[in-house]
Amino acid sequence: MSSATVLLFSLMCSAMVGCLVEATPLPPEELQDGALNYLKRFGYLKEGNEHDQVSLEDSIRAMQTFAGLNETGVLDEATLAMMETPRCSMPDMDSSEGRAKRFAIVSKWKKFILDYKIFNYPTNVLNLVPKDIDRIIALAWSIWSDKAKKLSFPISSSQTPTISIRFVGGDHGDNYPFDGPGKVLAHAFYPQNGNAHFDDSETWSDGQKNGKNLAWVASHEFGHALGLGHSTVSTALMYPYYTGYKEIVLDNDDINGILSIYPN
Ligand SMILES: [Zn+2]
Ligand SMILES: [Zn+2]
Repeated sequence: MSSATVLLFSLMCSAMVGCLVEATPLPPEELQDGALNYLKRFGYLKEGNEHDQVSLEDSIRAMQTFAGLNETGVLDEATLAMMETPRCSMPDMDSSEGRAKRFAIVSKWKKFILDYKIFNYPTNVLNLVPKDIDRIIALAWSIWSDKAKKLSFPISSSQTPTISIRFVGGDHGDNYPFDGPGKVLAHAFYPQNGNAHFDDSETWSDGQKNGKNLAWVASHEFGHALGLGHSTVSTALMYPYYTGYKEIVLDNDDINGILSIYPN
C-alpha cells in the first residue's frame, strides 16, 4: 500500500468517525488510486503533491465544491460516486502553478466565422444515420450562435477546416486518451485549436434516455471550442458531468460566459 493510499485511508477513517450515521465500508484500494488519478487528471491536484495531506484535502474540497457536493475534504461515498459519473475529459482546474484555479473563460477566436468538418461518424449509435449526426452537430453549434449572434458555423469542404470533429477511441494522438464506455465521453480544445473528439466506444443517441445524448455532449464540447471552461453551476451546459438525457437549454451562466467572449 503506497503512503498516499495510507493517507487517503486515514482521511476516510477520520471522516467516518465524524459522521458515523453515514459510515460505509472502505472502498477497495484500486478505487483510492483511481481517486488520486482523478484529482490529478482534472486539475485539482498538482503532480507530485499526492503525499502532502493539506494539498490532498484541499484538492478533494475543490472537487466537491465544483461538483456541488458537501465539502468534507475526504473521499466519502458521494464523492467517489461522482468520480464514477460520466463526464467531459477536459480539466476543471489549472493546477500547473501551485494552487488550483478554475478555468472560466480560457481564450477566444479572433474571427467569428468558424467552419467545421465532421471527418467520420460514430460506430455505435441508437437509431442514428450520418444525416442525423450532421443535424445534431449543426444544432449543437446553433445553441451558441443563437445567443452570440456574431458567430456562424458553416460546413467546410476543405480537409483543413478551422474545427475538426472526430469520433475516436482509446489513445488517439493527443494527451487525452479515451477510456472505453462510460466515464470520459468527449473533449474539445480551446481556441485557437477548437477540434472536438468524441469517444467512439460510447453508444450515441438522440432524444432518449438510452445511450449518450450526442446533442448535449456536442453542445458542451463546442462551448470549450469557443473558449469556455467548466462551470460549477449544475444546471449549466458547461457543468463537466453528464447527468443523463435532458433538454438542452443554456443556463444564464452559459449565456453570460459566451456573451462575455463574443458580445453582440
Ligand atoms: Zn467539458
Ligand atoms: Zn482527443
